[in-house]
Amino acid sequence: MNIVIFGPPGAGKGTQSKFIVKKFNLYQLSTGDLLRNEVKNKTELGLKISSIMNSGQLVSDEIVGNLIEKFVSNNKYKNKIIFDGYPRTLIQAKNLDNLLKKYDQNINIVLKLSVSLDTIKKRISERQIQEKRSDDNEATAIKRYETYEKSSALVLDYYKQSNLLKVVNGEATITKINSEISGLIESIKG
Ligand code: ADP
Repeated sequence: MNIVIFGPPGAGKGTQSKFIVKKFNLYQLSTGDLLRNEVKNKTELGLKISSIMNSGQLVSDEIVGNLIEKFVSNNKYKNKIIFDGYPRTLIQAKNLDNLLKKYDQNINIVLKLSVSLDTIKKRISERQIQEKRSDDNEATAIKRYETYEKSSALVLDYYKQSNLLKVVNGEATITKINSEISGLIESIKG
């Protein structure tokens, strides 16, 4: 089973992904984490993308596409991936379909976590204190939310059309969201 978890910054994608990974024995593929790692390690790629990330914009579709192919092509992760933070654009969604097809896989469910901008602002300012992410200041957070608003509608429409989309209330408590998501995954496992 391959899962896509979708939602604005601060929606709780990472938190829920970690829960799903444990419960259903999957692997989390967070493009944000992979990219932050490149920046932290000051790799050639990291140096190229750090200012883009810190300004709240998206890294190019090509760069993230290359990062995810390394995962999708690895047999160890075959049909066991939760895509956290990917795809974020319609092009990425189509690229992901093609890539999965190439490795004889598909997406089984797309979980969208819905949260308001007010909640996002609150969560990101709390996360800033705990994790000290350089893109978690309020200005960048708002920019990231705007970036999300711009590109998310087309991605959501795309998955709605293929009947994969399930919307989850991301304002509920973490455990409540855990159980709602579990139920949805169980229901498609049959
Ligand atoms: P959040 O969802 O809280 O914004 P992420 O960790 O998912 O955090 O992403 C952080 C940043 O990494 C994004 O603002 C963007 O610059 C970059 N990024 C992550 N995933 C992608 C992607 N699929 N395409 C382009 N850029 C991405």
